Amino acid sequence: MKVWKALSLNESGDPPSFDDVMLVPRYSTIKSRLDPNISTMLGSMSLDIPIISSPMDTVTGHKMAISLGSRGAMGIVHRFMTPKQQSDEVMRIIQFNRKSDSEYKAPVIPAVGIGTSERERFKYLHDEYGSLLDWIAIDVANGHSFIMKEMIDWVKNETHGNIPILAGNVATGDGFAFLADSGANAIRVGIGGGSICKTRIMTGFGVPTLASVIDCNRVKVSNSNYKDVSIIADGGIKYPADFVKSLAAGADAVMAGRIFAGTLESPGKIVTLNEKRMKVYRGMASKEVQDDAKGGLRPGTCAEGVSTYVSLKGKAYYILEEFCGGLRSAMTYANATNIKELRKNSVFIRLTSSALEESHAFGTKQ
Ligand code: IMP
Repeated sequence: MKVWKALSLNESGDPPSFDDVMLVPRYSTIKSRLDPNISTMLGSMSLDIPIISSPMDTVTGHKMAISLGSRGAMGIVHRFMTPKQQSDEVMRIIQFNRKSDSEYKAPVIPAVGIGTSERERFKYLHDEYGSLLDWIAIDVANGHSFIMKEMIDWVKNETHGNIPILAGNVATGDGFAFLADSGANAIRVGIGGGSICKTRIMTGFGVPTLASVIDCNRVKVSNSNYKDVSIIADGGIKYPADFVKSLAAGADAVMAGRIFAGTLESPGKIVTLNEKRMKVYRGMASKEVQDDAKGGLRPGTCAEGVSTYVSLKGKAYYILEEFCGGLRSAMTYANATNIKELRKNSVFIRLTSSALEESHAFGTKQ
């Protein structure tokens, strides 16, 4: 059987997406699924659950950030609202943290974009909360860009480098190195893989998220300057297996939108369609978002996202449980007591389409 370490997977054939590969079980001495430690590092911050919810207006407001953050994961408060509204969302997280006696404080991390008005947004939030902000996320479609570097430089200058920066997205090791050299502490990796994304069909650009993670990790391990810069696999996480494969391939955490859309904590109303309770889940570059924000698409531009409905799923906590359960079980198959060992011990095989078919329990393939 031909097996590959993650770092050689991109060279072993076409750049793989999650469904193209599987991990190979190995001899294990782990007695219980509860033994492995699944915590990770995001820059210099420890995150007990390596999952981050996307800064999207149908995914992360204060409720999601609190629900995930108070359980050891993290949510990034989206920026598709006024600075005042975003500040109110941030305030609620801070107030929750002050009152809560839970083991975890919810990380406080709002997103901003780039350009003059987004600098104003950052100033507003920073003036209001200063060091209470744990991170700032700079959220743009193509982070491998001059304007992203300008924004990072500007934030660093404003804050004297005192706030960790999560930036993205990039699709290649070159993009990773560019953002790491620019001073980002954690980098979102993945272009075109989001479940509501149309970038690949509108532009022809994109790289499978798993292949991007591997390429970024290749660059990361080649240069000790990058050892504390975290890789966040972003886009296309459908199953716990995709989460596991991302971490095994070099990601420090994953970011996901769809798995949390439709939970009780995601922003947005519950609607009933065909007798099913649903919520909207939409790409932030969709026409629907542009319609709401600016009364329509800007002339000369096109939508690169779609809007859809997803079934109501209950609490976000259940999703975390399911994904962490999958990861813990995976660690027993990999004989790994922590994420570093998972990465070290993992070998992949490439799948045929019939092997993929065989991998899904009857009726669970969506
Ligand atoms: P999902 O978890 O597969 O649904 O992907 C979520 C990710 O898709 C987000 O974290 C963003 O990186 C990305 N994304 C969000 N909105 C859009 C969009 O409108 N177009 C393209 N990508 C998007």
